[in-house]
Amino acid sequence: MRRPARLGDEVYSAIFERIMSLEIEPGARISVDAISRQLGVSQTPIREALGRLESEGLVVKTHLIGYSAAPQLNARQFADLYELRLLLEPFAARKCAQSMPDAVIDQLEALCAEMDSLTQSEGPQSYAQFARLDMAFHDQIAASAGNALAVEALSRLYTHVHLYRLLPSGVARSALDEHGQLIAAIKARDPDAAEAAMRQHIESSQHRFKAHYPG
Ligand SMILES: [Zn+2]
Repeated sequence: MRRPARLGDEVYSAIFERIMSLEIEPGARISVDAISRQLGVSQTPIREALGRLESEGLVVKTHLIGYSAAPQLNARQFADLYELRLLLEPFAARKCAQSMPDAVIDQLEALCAEMDSLTQSEGPQSYAQFARLDMAFHDQIAASAGNALAVEALSRLYTHVHLYRLLPSGVARSALDEHGQLIAAIKARDPDAAEAAMRQHIESSQHRFKAHYPG
């Protein structure tokens, strides 16, 4: 018999993938009943998974209506998100070059290797996993910069769950090269290079996802 914690993770991942791949469209209602039937599990793990997804910005709970997938960013919100990222993340990268412990740099490299191996496979599962690893990569850098307010501001953007739903078709290999340059700069303990590499990565990322907003 499956342990309940494991079942909870499976239910969570199944719903996460459906939202990230737009099988559940942005803004669409999510029926606990329907998902319970689709996945063949009781409503309890589904409600738990939806609560977790709500805390990650991917699901919205509305009084009397219930759960729905978070709407996509409009052009203004997209621009604001990148403006704030450009203020905070290059700063965080700079601080990481100064103070990130070697063991944490190793963890970042492991995340990158995992992302790299995911580019070999296709489908909603690997796409969702790639988004999750990219999120973990940026969260780790923010956390290691040691400014709790910056971490909080960045976490409230729910950057990756929003961005990866804009273009749910294939991952960008160039992002991996940008991550590699960033890690190299942190490893070399070069704050200027780390700041520049992060700025470059965010600007390139904005350019990639901007394809969603023609005109
Ligand atoms: Zn990234």
